[in-house]
Amino acid sequence: MIKLINTDGSRAKNLLPKVLGAAALSVALSTAFMGTASAQDLADVEVNSYHVQGNVWVLTGAGGHVTVQIGDQGVLVVDTQFAETAPKIVEEIERLAPGKTIRYVINTHAHGDHTGGNAIVRSAGETIVAGNEAGDVGATFEPGAEVIAHENVMLSMATANPPLPFEAWPTEVYIGNKYDFYFNGEPVELLYQGRAHTNGDSIIFFRKSDVIAAGDIYVTEGFPFIDQNNFGHINGIIDGLNQIISITVPLEQQEGGTMVISSHGRLSDEADVVEYRDMLTIIRDRVQYLIDEGMSLEEVLEVGPARDYSNRYGNGFISTDDFITAVYNNLSE
Ligand SMILES: [Zn+2]
Repeated sequence: MIKLINTDGSRAKNLLPKVLGAAALSVALSTAFMGTASAQDLADVEVNSYHVQGNVWVLTGAGGHVTVQIGDQGVLVVDTQFAETAPKIVEEIERLAPGKTIRYVINTHAHGDHTGGNAIVRSAGETIVAGNEAGDVGATFEPGAEVIAHENVMLSMATANPPLPFEAWPTEVYIGNKYDFYFNGEPVELLYQGRAHTNGDSIIFFRKSDVIAAGDIYVTEGFPFIDQNNFGHINGIIDGLNQIISITVPLEQQEGGTMVISSHGRLSDEADVVEYRDMLTIIRDRVQYLIDEGMSLEEVLEVGPARDYSNRYGNGFISTDDFITAVYNNLSE
């Protein structure tokens, strides 16, 4: 059963008529993010886990890092990597949380390197059924954990060509700026980012553990991927980083404090995010200046507005020129 709940608690209606016109690219992106890695390469990937702080761990492997929150009520998993790596993700969760049940899966966005393992991780878990929903169990109960994401994640999966299998879709979607619930002794907040990396990004804030899972809004390995086929925009990415900075608090005179899980790259604190935000803001403003000067994309690329950052950030998934091209196209909309 697909339950559509608005942030005010009312049921959302008419999901499919709201499907956006452009074909979503989740399937293609799943392939794109795999790069040259074969299914066998992915299956051979080693999955490792690290305690972040409080109830929160991060799992690395291939694709976006997986954030796991563990407590008395069970396990919550943010993003699921690829189908090929998901069995190892489940195995590692069982090692970290023996005997505990995966209750929730959250997707930060629709890309295949974050959702490819949805069906496998979900089916390893079980939805909490209680209160007035218990009466529905006979008719509608589906085994597996609940999968939560912004509505646009589901739209992206449903309109992909071919659509992603139903088992991978969110079972609970939200619209509006925020969705939250209490689990394992702390508030868990999904904060919607508008047009950012895609048009379906949530950052996930574990309020008591004091950890943010940033999804692909924040990647320390390189320039961000602005997925324009899924309505991504540089300004939304910068806004998202500013929201992270407004939440994070450093330890007094020290590193640490609120921790930020970059989905591709290393664990960070506020100062790291500030540096990344500054880099993107400087480059965005330079490109805007050159556009205001009347320059074509070719001329802007020739000038090289990210030249001083390309050694550090230009060797990741997105080349410097691809990044500048995306920013130029965004700002020319
Ligand atoms: Zn992504």
